[in-house]
Amino acid sequence: MRTIARGFLIVAMVVAPAWVATSASAGLRHASDLPTTVEALAGPVDLTPPAALTAPAAGSLEHASRSALRDSQAAPTPMATTSAEAQAAAECSGVVSGPMANGQLTAANLCDLWQKPYKDRADAVVTAFAMNDAFTAKFGRPMCLTSGYRTYEEQARLRAAEPGIAAAAGTSNHGWGLAIDFCANTYGGAAGAWLRANGPKFGWDNPSWARPGGSGAFEPWHWEYVPGVKALGK
Ligand SMILES: [Zn+2]
Repeated sequence: MRTIARGFLIVAMVVAPAWVATSASAGLRHASDLPTTVEALAGPVDLTPPAALTAPAAGSLEHASRSALRDSQAAPTPMATTSAEAQAAAECSGVVSGPMANGQLTAANLCDLWQKPYKDRADAVVTAFAMNDAFTAKFGRPMCLTSGYRTYEEQARLRAAEPGIAAAAGTSNHGWGLAIDFCANTYGGAAGAWLRANGPKFGWDNPSWARPGGSGAFEPWHWEYVPGVKALGK
């Protein structure tokens, strides 16, 4: 199964360019994501956005990029995919082992996703690639990402920049390498309808708290690898 998927992946990535979000700009106002499931269930999330992004932290840029895409529905800029990237993807073992701490996953437990610089936990990445293969077959382009694994430090910076919104470091499922944030052209429109219908087949889902009427912030872009999250006991 994985061999077949890998074969398709390589073909697909040769034919279709990878897409990346490059429209980051400081100062965009935006609602953000990041409460954990536990936090979201515990109470309402403050949706008040900061007046401006004041620090060029990686997380802030990621959010600005995502917001720009979400607000404008702008098409992302194509970027050539190297064979080395495709090869790296094919080499992800999908195996995770050893003690793990949120935001402190070892390199051995992480794999690259198809869009740099994003990574996630190896088992989540393998299923995400299978989902991306199916998406690419349907839409002729890879799924576009705005976030994956975040280190403890990255989450702490995000929290500092957006204290009323971002989850505390050590609590986000991004810190477990089990979450992906998608661009608007992937979670919205026909692509989003496909994602909601097919993502769960690959173990990926938009958590209930993030859905319309859910207990947390409305975050249609935030998807989690359900088997991994369940194993955490959340
Ligand atoms: Zn997220």
